[in-house]
Amino acid sequence: MDELQKALNHKSLTISTLPEKGRCLFTTRDFFPGEVIISENPYVCVPNKNKESPESKCEWCFSSNNLKKCSACHVVWYCSSKCQKSDWKLHSLECRALSKLDKDRAKSLTSSIRLMVRLYIRRKLENEKILPTSATENYKNVEALVSHMSEVEEKQLVLYAQMANLVNLILQWPESEINIKEIAENFSKLACNAHTICDSELRPLGTGLYPVISIINHSCLPNSVLVFEERLAVVRAMQHIPKGTEVLISYIEIAGSTPTRQKALKEQYFFTCTCSHCMNLGQPDDIQESAILEGYRCKNSKCNGFLLRDSDNKGFVCQQCGLLQDKEELKNITNEVKLISEKASALLSSGHKTEAIAAYKTTEELQGKLYHPCSIHLMRTRETLLKIFMELQDWRAALSYCRLTIPTYEKVYPRCHPLLGLQYYTCGKLEWLLGETQAAVRSLTKASDILRITHGTKTPFMIELASKLEEAHAEASYMLRSQNED
Ligand SMILES: [Zn+2]
Ligand SMILES: [Zn+2]
Ligand SMILES: [Zn+2]
Ligand SMILES: [Zn+2]
Repeated sequence: MDELQKALNHKSLTISTLPEKGRCLFTTRDFFPGEVIISENPYVCVPNKNKESPESKCEWCFSSNNLKKCSACHVVWYCSSKCQKSDWKLHSLECRALSKLDKDRAKSLTSSIRLMVRLYIRRKLENEKILPTSATENYKNVEALVSHMSEVEEKQLVLYAQMANLVNLILQWPESEINIKEIAENFSKLACNAHTICDSELRPLGTGLYPVISIINHSCLPNSVLVFEERLAVVRAMQHIPKGTEVLISYIEIAGSTPTRQKALKEQYFFTCTCSHCMNLGQPDDIQESAILEGYRCKNSKCNGFLLRDSDNKGFVCQQCGLLQDKEELKNITNEVKLISEKASALLSSGHKTEAIAAYKTTEELQGKLYHPCSIHLMRTRETLLKIFMELQDWRAALSYCRLTIPTYEKVYPRCHPLLGLQYYTCGKLEWLLGETQAAVRSLTKASDILRITHGTKTPFMIELASKLEEAHAEASYMLRSQNED
């Protein structure tokens, strides 16, 4: 038995290889909701720096506070000397390489390039016995990852080759230590194995490679969830997982119809999902679900029906009242929605928030005519409005949009999904701010019931949620007492 298998056996887990799926992780005992199945430190990781997340972050813990730049390379930041020390063995070599680069080039390096540079440095340090190896922290586990090279498109392969050349240029190692073709293959491995590291509210912070957790396969109805505690990846059971069951997490945003989810999985991960939700593809209830989530609604505002294409493809027919809707008419409103929502997003990116709100509200109104109340499109517009109102600290408007998203969240996410828990949490915090104490208690309780399972109970984020809930409870019972006394 190999070292990794032995180490996993100690954690009541085992690796099996199935012909159609490759490596799979199975339990060898029962796991219960909220229980940690496995946790792993990143083999290598880097903070993200892009349009969505432009602020600098600590290279070790991803914090954005009290940052100091490395005075030698001027590329990486640390929040404390403790973080800098923890990262030093790896960064000392990286720092030397980055310092030799022209300043602008060094600053504009993408996360993928930096991650690859770090991967090769880590391997070198292991080979030279400067960094210790173990069953779980070992380049061998990176070697075991799938790369899907034969399925990658030509255009993408060219890009990987260019990126590999850049890594070679940065490292400047002797030819015997570097193989461009292998680097290109490793880029392909990163594309389908690296994980986005998120904070407790699932906002992306960075990218990391966790080769053991990468063994866990995908399901659109997962029994487990991956969350991060700073750089540590933690997989918890979302439900009771009996002994001998495969551990499954979701690789993608699962809010979407079966065709949408399957497309996302095929494009990024090169496989066709065979989970029970996906096996339902084309069945009447799956068609209905797709039509509700992504299709059109009945023109009659009093009817809650969804539309399907009619048999001679002239238009769409309401499945509830039979009303026929013309294809052209639908196309026109769809185009109108597209134009106005593009305008809204342009206004938002140029900082015109008030105008953006007006445009998003028009989008929402039009989408309300076009799509089912539980449509994903409508949900996304409302999420954006919620975000803008939160930034403007307009709590009343934010709460109304948060509440509007919840029925769709309840429909598209499993009962114990972290995004559903977080949406209840936002709702509860807003209700609390607006003095709606009873409602806040209800929402915070729902949030806590889910997030205790997905996030555990010990992180600062969860301790804060617990204390907010306690405070809301105390206030609610105080109010109840004083009402009774009156
Ligand atoms: Zn730090
Ligand atoms: Zn440096
Ligand atoms: Zn699936
Ligand atoms: Zn109808």
